[in-house]
Amino acid sequence: MPTRQPPKPRPDAAAGKPAAKKPATSKSAQKRAVKARSPADIRALFERFRAHNPEPKGELESVNAYTMLVAVVLSAQATDVGVNKATRPLFAIADTPQKMVALGEDVVRDYVKSIGLFRTKAKNVIALSEQLIAEHGGEVPDRREALEKLPGVGRKTANVVLNMAFGQITHAVDTHVFRIANRLRIAPGRNPLQVELGLEEAVPEEFGHHAHHWLILHGRYTCKAVKPLCAGCIVADLCDSADKRMG
Ligand code: SF4
Repeated sequence: MPTRQPPKPRPDAAAGKPAAKKPATSKSAQKRAVKARSPADIRALFERFRAHNPEPKGELESVNAYTMLVAVVLSAQATDVGVNKATRPLFAIADTPQKMVALGEDVVRDYVKSIGLFRTKAKNVIALSEQLIAEHGGEVPDRREALEKLPGVGRKTANVVLNMAFGQITHAVDTHVFRIANRLRIAPGRNPLQVELGLEEAVPEEFGHHAHHWLILHGRYTCKAVKPLCAGCIVADLCDSADKRMG
């Protein structure tokens, strides 16, 4: 009669360790867990972005902090190219809040009528210019709370202005930054604020100033929403996204 062999000990038990947990497979667990990359991997990504484009520039045109603020307010749900086309002649005659208010809402509306939501945006440009004159001596404030109190200025706009006009490390999360931060697991999140706060923690300080430009440009020209151009992607070897398509 064959003798019965005792069951083999599991490797973990033999090493005196508690058995490793099985990976969670429930739908809720899968939804919960998109893990951010390791700090070393995130550094490698930004080193690659920097090597390819050491001084990335935003594509919205402006001549000072005020026109930058106006351009960003006008850019909501519009392309930078379309905004530049409208603002070039506008900023040539109105590059301060005083000059913009003097033009008046009707004239401003006429200049920006090729941009989506132009009626509301023209109203906001005049209202924020008046508020800058009344409350900030005609200057653009360099504090988030003050910026976000201006008509038409939300968190994203404030982040762009703080970063570009005042050199502060902020992460404006637009549709491209949101997608890339998730695809590359730099700062996975379900909404722009989660991603922004994740980027604040994850992006090493030396890359902080340019991070949002690198991510925007990467998302706009390479890692597109529907068909990412993976074959020409400078970080393809570092990417493990499910959206990656090399063939
Ligand atoms: S390999 Fe593709 S999916 Fe990954 S970052 Fe590059 S373009 Fe995006």
